[in-house]
Amino acid sequence: MTTIQSSIRCKQCQKILKEEEEPCLKCGGHLRMFYTEITENITLKDNIEYKKYSQGIKRFLLHVKRGWFNSGDKKNHPEGVILHQEVNRENNFYKKKVEDYLTGEITKDLEEPLNKHLPKSK
Ligand SMILES: [Zn+2]
Repeated sequence: MTTIQSSIRCKQCQKILKEEEEPCLKCGGHLRMFYTEITENITLKDNIEYKKYSQGIKRFLLHVKRGWFNSGDKKNHPEGVILHQEVNRENNFYKKKVEDYLTGEITKDLEEPLNKHLPKSK
């Protein structure tokens, strides 16, 4: 979900103006500035994913996924999820936190030693 809000402000006094308010009702100025505000939702739909490798070791040492991801579970997460996942072989640590993008409901919040964690898939 993307929300973009546009607003017009007086260049002199920063008052938020309506389209038809010219000159500015507060200071009489004629110069206007146009703002476009993009809500946080857009930022959240970004994600990062990276893996850390060490020379001579074929498997990754660290795999991190953070941010917005599409969900395979379209019924429960039609707009995707906010994911924070970390598979850390260096520190024997596994974390997975899943938050529904629309409702913010946390459907999974797990932290455990990696050797106790057995992924169901892959
Ligand atoms: Zn003004």
